[in-house]
Amino acid sequence: MGKLQAGIIPVTPFQQNCTILFDDETREGVVIDPGGDVPTILEVVSENGITLREIWLTHGHIDHAGGADELREVLGIPVIGPHEADLPLLQKLEVQAEKFGVKMAARNLVPDRWLNEGDTVSFGDHVFEVFHCPGHAPGHVIYYNRKQKFAHLGDVLFNGSIGRTDLPGGDHETLLASIRDKVLPLGDDVGFICGHGPGSRIGDERRNNPFLRGL
Ligand SMILES: [Zn+2]
Ligand SMILES: [Zn+2]
Repeated sequence: MGKLQAGIIPVTPFQQNCTILFDDETREGVVIDPGGDVPTILEVVSENGITLREIWLTHGHIDHAGGADELREVLGIPVIGPHEADLPLLQKLEVQAEKFGVKMAARNLVPDRWLNEGDTVSFGDHVFEVFHCPGHAPGHVIYYNRKQKFAHLGDVLFNGSIGRTDLPGGDHETLLASIRDKVLPLGDDVGFICGHGPGSRIGDERRNNPFLRGL
């Protein structure tokens, strides 16, 4: 088994961090949150000789899930996650674009597998634990690789900020509880990629992120 590698492709007008996780020896991997720009994702994957096995979703917003159904169809691979509480969002992907005032094609979808707290997902020997972290979206999940001290946090926690909670199903107190009870306990030395902007380390956010004061 090789090392876990990550590559980021900013997609959609929201510049969402579509993330490719892959093994640097087998070149097998998964894509997290293919929100759109599917031809670009396919191009990057093939240029780098990567074979995608699964599509993992953190939550049901258009910039994260809008391209998942198209990619599933093209590659013939399953869509895994998020938590079932995001079904209403995933069934409204086609109208989310209008609401956000952006022009992008999106397709409604039902994942092949819902995820729950305590589930694991994997490719090759790389195992990720699933945590249900509602607040930004009701069905938001995060993915944590304990061995490599790496997490994908979607729109829960950003470098210097946290996910917005003014969208349908969002709740500020619930988001703070998710961060306090699920994210911070992963440990200060855990590095993460998030849905927008640069990643960070959990310890740096615990110390410096103004939104986490008092947690
Ligand atoms: Zn979101
Ligand atoms: Zn987002």
